[in-house]
Amino acid sequence: MKFPDRLPIPEEVLKIAQRLESAGYETWCVGGAIRDNLLELENHDFDLTTAAPPAEVRKLFKRTVPVGIEHGTVAVLDRHNRPHEVTTFRRDIKTDGRHAVVEFGVSLMDDLARRDFTINAIAYHPGRHEWRDPFHGADDLEHRLIRSVGDPNWRFQEDYLRILRGLRFSARFEFRIHAGTLEAAKANVQGVAQLSAERVRDEWFKGIATARHVSKLLQLWVDVGAARIWLPEIREKGDGTREKGGLDKLPRDPVLITAYLATDPASLLTRLKCSNKEIERGRAIGAWRDKYPDPKHLPAVRRWLSQVGEYADDLLTLPPARSSPISLLPKVVASIRAAKDPLTLQALAVDGNDLIAAGVRPGPDVGEALERLLGEVLEDPSRNTKQYLLAHV
Ligand code: ATP
Ligand code: MG
Repeated sequence: MKFPDRLPIPEEVLKIAQRLESAGYETWCVGGAIRDNLLELENHDFDLTTAAPPAEVRKLFKRTVPVGIEHGTVAVLDRHNRPHEVTTFRRDIKTDGRHAVVEFGVSLMDDLARRDFTINAIAYHPGRHEWRDPFHGADDLEHRLIRSVGDPNWRFQEDYLRILRGLRFSARFEFRIHAGTLEAAKANVQGVAQLSAERVRDEWFKGIATARHVSKLLQLWVDVGAARIWLPEIREKGDGTREKGGLDKLPRDPVLITAYLATDPASLLTRLKCSNKEIERGRAIGAWRDKYPDPKHLPAVRRWLSQVGEYADDLLTLPPARSSPISLLPKVVASIRAAKDPLTLQALAVDGNDLIAAGVRPGPDVGEALERLLGEVLEDPSRNTKQYLLAHV
């Protein structure tokens, strides 16, 4: 691949680079935005890498945020309050597969050498319009290849997250993973077990959000062995009850997709340290996805809506098991919602105090009576009047 003569660098990024350069510090654009622009994909989020030490970067700009200062990353805020990441040239001198001890005061070449994949290790000088591509990332972009910078075994052992990043980039760009890199990913996959759940979750969710086809991402996680470690609730080949093709048609909602794929969504989402709300959502999907009501039986649909509550739309989005004939269900649900049929205890025309006034003993009897009345109203919404309900306590 031939490099373009110039890349359109946003003015604010250019200003930051110029400022560092005039203070005597070599500064280059690097990372994902360079890669994406060479692929002609829009990305204005240029990262800068500089010879200036972090303290110097903080001195040179009025407003900075030390977002990852231990790795030498400082965000410089522009006049629109947008952050631009500036990272000091660095080299990893010691790692345990999760964290790195870094050394500053090294060259651009050292900095590019510590990057994960060749396509992410290309630098562009925004002032001189020069390119540096010591690992031939441009060739790999042209040949659509994900290849580690340097020895893949060693690079994965330095940071096992790189294995998952490689899968994400492969699925996102539909690039093949170079044979040696793929082999090393498989050989070292056990190391991803040591990563924190948060980093794994972020990678998996980001992968779902950006993959060209989610099915391809999943296949990579399965083939490399990462799914077995972190997503064991996902049946490796699918058991045929849920359509495989359905996966790629789902909305790119990571929690929904993960829940769809897992036999026990709540356990999987708990392992990934998702929020309680997300885990509950997964639990509801797991509990209800095989229990759709008969759309021809309106009271059954109302009862179902009453029970699944806020998760009805998730359940309507999921392609159901092949055996259930629920294609009419969304229409029926829409008509029930349009009619504003009462579906909850709160929507009943009577409340606990009304029942007590009518002679129900305060305590658990009240709740039971309300539940029973809701059952009657779900059967026939026209019963939702004070008169009818009090007559039927
Ligand atoms: P995107 O932001 O689109 O997911 P990106 O390539 O910009 O992709 P970032 O996580 O933003 O990814 O990282 C920016 C750059 O930092 C990468 O392009 C790569 O050069 C380097 N990098 C990030 N994470 C690692 C890592 N774990 N090991 C080595 N280099 C990394
Ligand atoms: Mg990025």
